[in-house]
Amino acid sequence: MKIITDERCTGYSSRGHPERPERVARTLARLREQKEIPIEWITPGTVEDAILLRAHTPEHLARLRIHRDFDGDTPYYEGIETYARSAVAAGLEALKAARAGEVAFSLMRPPGHHATKDRAMGFCFLSSMAIAALHALATGTKRVAVFDFDVHHGNGTEAILLNKPDAAFFSIHQHPCYPGTGTANVGDNCFNYPVAPHTPREEYRKVISRALEELKKFKPELVAVSAGFDAYAHDPIAQETLEAEDFHWLGEQVRALSVPTFSLLEGGYSNELPELIFAYLKGLNGK
Ligand SMILES: [Zn+2]
Repeated sequence: MKIITDERCTGYSSRGHPERPERVARTLARLREQKEIPIEWITPGTVEDAILLRAHTPEHLARLRIHRDFDGDTPYYEGIETYARSAVAAGLEALKAARAGEVAFSLMRPPGHHATKDRAMGFCFLSSMAIAALHALATGTKRVAVFDFDVHHGNGTEAILLNKPDAAFFSIHQHPCYPGTGTANVGDNCFNYPVAPHTPREEYRKVISRALEELKKFKPELVAVSAGFDAYAHDPIAQETLEAEDFHWLGEQVRALSVPTFSLLEGGYSNELPELIFAYLKGLNGK
């Protein structure tokens, strides 16, 4: 499989913030030491403004250069524009690999699914996922579905893809929880599956299966996965119940869709993140 990553994404941090460099650094170490999945490592390049501007306003791109915090959760970091653009570029590499028939995972930070057209929020600055989905459609993919299993609602991806022809968005997330959206379906292409806190994992899996059944009815040519690992039972910032084997099962479910897919790392803040990602990748690879 291909993993798109750049160790430089560990170069920013804010004391005590859950979205910390160790998330990627420790996962990299775990994946380098394992022997079960052969990995081809790819370093992302850069991305042109025109590609970002399908999803974001010019004002938003300029805002990323202003040294002022975005909100209480989302500080300004020196060079954050470069970090966010690099995560977008990694998403585009993952898309390219998927189209070439590879299993692909982008292991980068910052995450992206809360960033809207004109706003950074929830640890996210640019919507890597919406940008990749729109790029896929602009360059020949006929129908793309986004499957978001991060425990938080992907409000940014949803807002950007809302009513876009040939795109559909499916999100399973805890509610009530940050950011508070995603309680119902919106527009003609965004489907939300809110789950109460502390839902038993068997029930949570049933909701995921239901979402995937609906996703299949959309008949996507490509499925892009916002892979967040914060529905894990011991995640410090949410209250769900999934275990490592559930993320393995999630990987198997994505594999069973039998269409090209790629996955981008969104959230996941526990110390077990490397094992959760590894479990998901094994599922994706049929191991
Ligand atoms: Zn999350």
